[in-house]
Amino acid sequence: MTPSSKKASPAAKKAPAAKKAPAAKKAPAAKKAPAAKPATSKERAPRQRTASSRAPAAAPAAPPDPTRLAAILRLLEERYPHPTTALRFENPLQLLVATILSAQCTDERVNQVTPELFAAFPDAAALWKAPTPELERIIHSTGFFRNKAKAIQGACKKLVEKHGGEVPREMAAMLELPGVARKTANVVLGTAYRLATGVVVDTHVRRVAARLGFTAESDPEKIERDLMRLLPEERWIDVGHQLVLHGRALCVARKPRCGECPLAPHCPSAGTLGDAGGEAAGE
Ligand code: SF4
Repeated sequence: MTPSSKKASPAAKKAPAAKKAPAAKKAPAAKKAPAAKPATSKERAPRQRTASSRAPAAAPAAPPDPTRLAAILRLLEERYPHPTTALRFENPLQLLVATILSAQCTDERVNQVTPELFAAFPDAAALWKAPTPELERIIHSTGFFRNKAKAIQGACKKLVEKHGGEVPREMAAMLELPGVARKTANVVLGTAYRLATGVVVDTHVRRVAARLGFTAESDPEKIERDLMRLLPEERWIDVGHQLVLHGRALCVARKPRCGECPLAPHCPSAGTLGDAGGEAAGE
C-alpha cells in the first residue's frame, strides 16, 4: 500500500461519513479499541512480512502529550495533505484484490498486473470462476502467487455467495473473507468507503509510530489498538496513510532523514537512530 495524491474512487465519494467503531468512541484514555482481530495470521497466509518479529525500536519512546501529538498531526497533514493509497482501483473490489496482491510486493508492481487482471476478470464472480492457472499467470510477478490466487478466489467466492458480489462495509464481514485480516480490511473500508474502522498498520506504520512514541508494541494488533486510543477517530484513515508516506519518504528503516524531517522538533527519536537504529526498526 502506498500513499499518494491519487483521488479516491467514485465509490469513495458516495460513501457515508466515517462509521464509528463501536467500542472505540469515547475519551481517548478510557476508550477501548474494538476487539482487534489483526492483520496477522490470515494476511500472513498469502505471505506477510515478519512484522511482529522485528522490534520497532531499541528503546520505546515516550508517548506524546496532547500538545506534541497535535503538532505532529498538524505537520503530517501539511506535508501529506491528500493521503491515500498508490494502488490503482476503480471500485472497492479492485482495491480489495490489489491490496491482497500488495503483500510483500510494491504497489508499482501490483499496478502493472491489475489492468490485465481486471480486464480479464472484471467482477467477483469472474475472479472466483477464473481458471486458476490463468489467474496465477497474470499475478505471478507479484510473488506468492499461488497463495494470493487462492485468497482472491476464496474471497470472491464468499463475496458472491454472501454479499451479492459486493465488498461489504462492515469489519466483521470483511474478516470472514479468506485472506483478509484487519490491515487489508482497514485499507479497503477506509480508502474505498471512507469508513473509519481502525488504523492501517503495515511495516512503515509500525516503524514510524514506534519512533514517534505512539506505541511501544511490536504486534500489529496491539499497535493498532494504541493508535486508535491515541488518535482522534476522524484522523484514523488519513494518519494511517500519512505514516506510510512518511515512512517511505523520510522516516526510512535505515538512516531516517531526521535532518529533513518536519516532525523532528517533536520526535523523541530525532537524531538518535543511526544504521543500527534503522535496522532495529526493521523493514
Ligand atoms: S525525526 Fe527522524 S525518527 Fe523522527 S519521524 Fe522524523 S525521520 Fe523519523
